Amino acid sequence: MNKERKLLIAGNWKMNKTVAEALDLVQGLRRELAGVKEVDILVCPPFTALSEVSRAILDSNIRLGAQNMSENNAGAFTGEVSAAMLREFSVRYVILGHSERRQFQKESDALIAKKALAAHAASLKPIVCVGETLAERESGQAEKIIGAQLKGSLAGLTKAQMEETILAYEPVWAIGTGKTATTQQVQDIHAFIRRTLVSLFDEATARRVRVQYGGSVKPANARELMSQPDVDGALVGGAALEVRSFSDIVKNSI
Ligand code: PEP
Repeated sequence: MNKERKLLIAGNWKMNKTVAEALDLVQGLRRELAGVKEVDILVCPPFTALSEVSRAILDSNIRLGAQNMSENNAGAFTGEVSAAMLREFSVRYVILGHSERRQFQKESDALIAKKALAAHAASLKPIVCVGETLAERESGQAEKIIGAQLKGSLAGLTKAQMEETILAYEPVWAIGTGKTATTQQVQDIHAFIRRTLVSLFDEATARRVRVQYGGSVKPANARELMSQPDVDGALVGGAALEVRSFSDIVKNSI
């Protein structure tokens, strides 16, 4: 697939996989995906498996991401993990503002913006998630909601930082539900996201930012979704938990 931006196919393992299970999965991916250079491949295990997975992917084409981090650098923040702690395990990316964290931990756009700045300060690339609920889509508010999430979650980033930020469009109604947005719905929102980046930053920056799609991506729909001009990768949940399905998504995206 000839794309303007290199695709980034990322697996968000969420709160799944013990260390032994994580190693099984990543060793299988390493075998299946050896030699793939056409797309960037990323796995985001739970914090508890980062250390072992980091060792298991040394000298491979698989990169490591985390699923969240604190906006603070250090101190009395019980249960939190800082960007510097993630760096110790060669983590390069961090998912921020996933809809599950927006919903269950009540993360706001302002908090996500602080986390994005803290990630950049530690040379981690944030993957900032945005997306509308079903009620918001059905009432014709998808663009308004996503526009506000972008403005709030990217507040304070320089153009250079924005270029090193990945966005993930994840319609909440398509996450873990088996419902995928239609290819046209995805491309339309991705084009809207890029127009919004032009107005928040500039044309050149907007052209360089990778915008992933997430929401029930599977081997069967990956090729068509990834072929859309403004879709620059996938953030995969359920189908990232098995070697076969995740590696087929990667291969079908090439
Ligand atoms: C996700 O949670 O980021 C996600 C896209 O999940 P799923 O692929 O299971 O819909």
